[in-house]
Amino acid sequence: MQAAMAMARLKPKTVRFDTGVGGIPDLTPEDIAAGLAGCKPGPVYLGLYKYSGDYTALIPLEQHVFAHIGIQAYAQKIFDDQKYSAVCRYMNQWIKCTPARRADALTEQERAWCKTLHQLVRLLVDDVVYENRHRACGGTGFYQGRICTGCGGTGRKPSSGRDNARFLNVEKNVWIRHWQPLFERFVPMLQSWEQTVLRHLQRKLYDAKEAELRQKLALVR
Ligand SMILES: [Zn+2]
Repeated sequence: MQAAMAMARLKPKTVRFDTGVGGIPDLTPEDIAAGLAGCKPGPVYLGLYKYSGDYTALIPLEQHVFAHIGIQAYAQKIFDDQKYSAVCRYMNQWIKCTPARRADALTEQERAWCKTLHQLVRLLVDDVVYENRHRACGGTGFYQGRICTGCGGTGRKPSSGRDNARFLNVEKNVWIRHWQPLFERFVPMLQSWEQTVLRHLQRKLYDAKEAELRQKLALVR
C-alpha cells in the first residue's frame, strides 16, 4: 500500500523537520489535508494530526473520540444514564459553542470521572498516533507463523498497567477493573479510523495519479 508506506515516512514529529531541512517528502501537509476531504470528521482529525503535523487537530480529535466513546458505551449499556448525561454536559462545556447553562453543571464527582475519561481518550490517541508496535513481531501480531505470545496477537507493545493507571490518576486495581476494559474496547475504533485515513489517501493521492499517468502513457502510444 503506497499511501501507508509514504505515511510511515511522515511521522508526526518528523514532518516539520523534514520539510524544514530541505528533504521534500512525497506528500506535503497540504496534500494530506486535500486527500482527506470527504472523510468523516474523526478520521480527518486523526489524519491531520498524525500525518500532516497539524497540531491544532488534536483538540477536535480528542473531542470526537470522547463523543464516540460516550455514544457507543451508552448504546452498549457500559455507561448508564447518569454517566452518559455527564459525558454530554462535559462535552457541552468543552466545546463552549453556547453559553454554559445551569443544567450543564457537573457535580464534583462527575467532573472527576469525566476528567479520567478524558485522560483515557488521550491514551487512546497516543496509542494510535505513536503506534506502540511490538518489536518481536513488528506489529503484525504473528511471530514465526504463530500468534505472537509477547503481545497476545495485538501487535502492540504491552503497555504497563502501572503507567496507564498513573496517567489516569487512578489506583492500579481501578485501572484494571474499570478503565483497561474500556481502553481495549475502543482501540479497534481508532485503528479503523486510521485504516479509513490510509484508504482515503491511497485512493485520492495515488490511484488518481496512477490513472493520470496511465492516460498519458496511452496517449504516447
Ligand atoms: Zn507481538
